Amino acid sequence: MSASELGEREGLIMADSRDKQIIEKTWDFIVIGTGMGGGTIGHALAQGGKSVLFCERGRSYFGNQEALAGDFLDALVPNPHSNISDRDKERAGRFSGQIFDATNGRKVPIQPMIGIGTGGSSALYGMVMERMFPQDFEPAASFPNAPEANVPARWPISSCRRHPRS
Ligand SMILES: Cc1cc2nc3c(=O)[nH]c(=O)nc-3n(C[C@H](O)[C@H](O)[C@H](O)COP(=O)(O)OP(=O)(O)OC[C@H]3O[C@@H](n4cnc5c(N)ncnc54)[C@H](O)[C@@H]3O)c2cc1C
Repeated sequence: MSASELGEREGLIMADSRDKQIIEKTWDFIVIGTGMGGGTIGHALAQGGKSVLFCERGRSYFGNQEALAGDFLDALVPNPHSNISDRDKERAGRFSGQIFDATNGRKVPIQPMIGIGTGGSSALYGMVMERMFPQDFEPAASFPNAPEANVPARWPISSCRRHPRS
């Protein structure tokens, strides 16, 4: 089944953010981002009969002829000496903007290896599901030298609730 057929089957309407009808409609839920987090919760809400608007900053890959298939890995993880354009990175689903790494108290610009567009990083991930450590649930404590970092102090659930027998 092609991505566009899947979109149609799931009742998805692809629209531009300038579409007046989309902007003026009152939605039950608006979900920002379409990765595992947003896509999963938005899909569950829609299955439960709610109207859901997904807002995705990248392009849609449903039926998009521009999306890179086949050779897309070259654009996703380019050789440092190759000349892959930012546009081609995004056609392959890779975010091409810069963010700042402030881990050591000094802001260093980096281009993170994250996804953009329908599926987000979840469309690229390697499917390794590692068990989490208790400290993973209180992430800010691991970055004492980066007060500006926006990692949360703690998750809304604890390690004990996630792994009751540990
Ligand atoms: C190459 C790669 C390999 C990985 N391998 C593994 C692995 O093996 N095991 C593992 O556990 N994890 C892995 N990860 C990490 C894992 O993929 C992510 O943690 C997970 O996909 C995050 O899901 P998410 O829904 O939170 O975010 P994402 O899937 O990244 O979705 C976020 C979405 O939000 C959109 N967005 C962001 N900001 C805005 C905005 N302001 N407005 C509108 N839309 C916005 C983005 O474009 C994106 O589509 C990997 C990641 C990558 C990139």
